Amino acid sequence: MSWLSNVVRPKLQQLVGVRREIPEDLWQKCPKCEQMIFHRELEKNLRVCPHCQHHLRLKVKERLAMLFDDGRYELIPLPAVTADPLKFRDLRRYPDRLKEAQAKTGQSEALLVARGTIGGHAVVVAALDFEFLGGSMGIAVGDGLLIAARAAIADRLPLIAIPASGGARMQEGILSLMQMARTTVAVQEVKAAGLPYLVILTDPTTGGVSASFAMLGDIAIAETGAVIGFAGARVIEQTIRESLPDGFQTAEYLYEHGMVDLVVRRHELKATLARVLLLLLKPVLTAEEPPSLALPNAAGAAAARDEASSAPPPTATSAGEAHADER
Ligand SMILES: [Zn+2]
Repeated sequence: MSWLSNVVRPKLQQLVGVRREIPEDLWQKCPKCEQMIFHRELEKNLRVCPHCQHHLRLKVKERLAMLFDDGRYELIPLPAVTADPLKFRDLRRYPDRLKEAQAKTGQSEALLVARGTIGGHAVVVAALDFEFLGGSMGIAVGDGLLIAARAAIADRLPLIAIPASGGARMQEGILSLMQMARTTVAVQEVKAAGLPYLVILTDPTTGGVSASFAMLGDIAIAETGAVIGFAGARVIEQTIRESLPDGFQTAEYLYEHGMVDLVVRRHELKATLARVLLLLLKPVLTAEEPPSLALPNAAGAAAARDEASSAPPPTATSAGEAHADER
């Protein structure tokens, strides 16, 4: 073999010219329309298929870079991971699975908590990474969400949660289920402090995550085509022995049934978020606001300024109008 690879192969390469190595990930197949997409084109299009508009999943750091102004944010450090509280082993040991996920993603856990500005508004974002053990929620994710909530409260900032998760982390058993209660408490703390709590539901948001902090947003924004649900469609079909309607558990289906407030394409997500934040955080409009948000006439704007001190913040109605615009 060594004679073949050391002598014959270089000689042949000299004769025919050196073959250029083609990276394997140069092309990616769209999981929906199955067209091949050049990866650079896909990255440029925010990983949305140019042929069928299917939204492919994003890595958490791509997601954060896309949402924050100039792609800049600061990560809030999270405590060390409690490794394997139950000494759990399925086909492999849980610590081995954890280590593999850490090596693959370069993160210590599935949740990242970041601080930065979106449309000029300072916010705290807690985002799950589906690449890290399916974005599953264990103790560390519960801890992370509590830290995110408390960071938001300390600096009087809105909290934005971005779930991408298969649900609770089964390797942590009942301790992972307890995170449903802990994350709900974290959200309640933010709401009790009078701060906005927004959720961007991305593909997929399922299981214990959808049954806790993911569905508690003051405003629930879902990304186009995202699968959002509790139990999987196949499990439900087997249980109720009926076939489910088309598009069941998609963002659009949930919107039609009143479970989410907005369904937004990835390209419009940042602008939508910035507008929602503006409406929630600056309830009193002034002449300096962008034209799309100004009152119909100057007199109205002046009246609004005069009432600035007495008017209650029109959070709920403003949000309602915002999503009426989207329809
Ligand atoms: Zn496609």
